[in-house]
Amino acid sequence: MIRYDLVCDNAHGFEGWFGSAADFDRQKERALVRCPTCGSPRVTKRLMAPAVSTTRKKEEQRHAVMNAHNQEMLGKLRDLVATIKANAEDVGERFPEEARKIHYGEAEQRGLIGKATADEARALIEEGVEIAPLPVLPDDTN
Ligand SMILES: [Zn+2]
Repeated sequence: MIRYDLVCDNAHGFEGWFGSAADFDRQKERALVRCPTCGSPRVTKRLMAPAVSTTRKKEEQRHAVMNAHNQEMLGKLRDLVATIKANAEDVGERFPEEARKIHYGEAEQRGLIGKATADEARALIEEGVEIAPLPVLPDDTN
């Protein structure tokens, strides 16, 4: 005898015992396997699920979705940072000085990346220089 977890087209779950897999197929073909709740003969074998409690399963699914979401976000951020870096000149420690020169029209307008202390960054912002911190990403060597 084989026990099958079955589900009808109205999503009623029930179990059925059959002599063999072929026996189940034969009975199903003749519409002898019916849902005990609604009598529907459109019954399918439910896929075997590991024995975890429903709450834990939901939790795991939620984590999987969140991880996928984070991975996607991380990928987008990485692309963004890569684009910024590809289109900007890395001026390192000279960043505040170079950013000012561009702001006051003393240097060619271009994208800059570099380092600034919190005080320097604040001073630049107060002067109206447009700067934005680059996000620091995990396993970003910078
Ligand atoms: Zn049913």
